[in-house]
Amino acid sequence: MARRPDDICARPDRIPHCPIAPFAMPIYPASVWECEHTDQAEQLLSGEMQGYVYQRDGHPNADVLSEKLRELHQTDNAAITSSGMAAMSLAVLSQLQAGDHVVLSKQLYGKSIQLLASELPRLGIDSTPVDTCDLTATAAAINEHTRLVVVETVANPMLKVADIEGLAELAHQGGSLLLVDNTFASPVLCQPARWGADLVLESISKIVNGHSDVMLGALCGPDAHWQRVARASSAWGLASSPFDSWLAARGLATMALRVERASDNALRIAKHLESRAQVADVVYPGLASSDEHQRATKYLGDKFGWMVTFRLNGGRDAANRFIQGAKRVPFCPSLGELSTTLSHPESTSHRAVPACERAALGIDGGTIRLSVGIESVDTIVAGLEDGLAYLA
Ligand SMILES: *Cc1c(COP(=O)(O)O)cnc(C)c1O
Repeated sequence: MARRPDDICARPDRIPHCPIAPFAMPIYPASVWECEHTDQAEQLLSGEMQGYVYQRDGHPNADVLSEKLRELHQTDNAAITSSGMAAMSLAVLSQLQAGDHVVLSKQLYGKSIQLLASELPRLGIDSTPVDTCDLTATAAAINEHTRLVVVETVANPMLKVADIEGLAELAHQGGSLLLVDNTFASPVLCQPARWGADLVLESISKIVNGHSDVMLGALCGPDAHWQRVARASSAWGLASSPFDSWLAARGLATMALRVERASDNALRIAKHLESRAQVADVVYPGLASSDEHQRATKYLGDKFGWMVTFRLNGGRDAANRFIQGAKRVPFCPSLGELSTTLSHPESTSHRAVPACERAALGIDGGTIRLSVGIESVDTIVAGLEDGLAYLA
């Protein structure tokens, strides 16, 4: 008897039998997996048996990505989340409760400050922003309720490098965990867990994926905290999608190459900008003249990242003219793209920071932050020169 069309259409698809495995990673968009018997279902759901049941609890495309990040960071685990901010939420929701206190760097990513300083108080979790470059001030901010200290390896846009080892010691003395957002360094240049960080965050949306077409994040850490992390990720619904994870795994495959190339380009660009009369100052931890150079060498090694910040003489007006002229270096307020982009902290990432604090950080209307890409360095220099020529 011929099958009914509705039965044919609705039948679950199966991979035709093939004795060998595909060389490239397939995408597994399955929301649910098929269990063979009741004991197996229980074992899979309790985590006793490795495998998958429901996508929100884990899927192969996230696991491929997390396995590489876990190895790169030399941590026991890595959880892949729907964005970098979801990874920050996961850290907070898995490790903190009402009555706890958080110490955060004043130079964190803007949304991280919003989450930690504005959203958490609604949940009964207080926070204190502090200049984490000042260990004495950081120690003074830690109190008996502090459970989490949050810093970035390299902070935006003045590229301050955190003393991760010193901060880990302070945090641990106070009975607190150290969370390091490593997005501006990437796991190629720095592995904060090696220096004592308990939790490490990456926004995969940036250079890990590196192709400006994915939102994902990762939280890496030790077995000791992981049961809570895995539970919170599922219960709060912070997990990643298979397709995004697949794209990001493809991006990650070339991350080491891209970070090396972009970092080499960034050093050459920083040196070039230092020589230009229209530029008042250049911030790059790879410059021997930088205050950050020694600490950067300790934590980043011999490559110093792809971010370069410089200040044009002439304030915001000069920045606008530069942006108009530098057509080959688009004004895209993010970072970690394949090609070079620029951002303007005063009007984007730091627009909510009071003017006096911005001035104290060294940011004015003429401050431009580059995310250097992997083009040939001559092309990038030419693109920047187009902008500088508009200022002449
Ligand atoms: C972009 C970014 C985040 C947030 O990541 P999303 O993937 O955009 O949510 C966190 N920290 C830093 C340093 C970032 O640059």
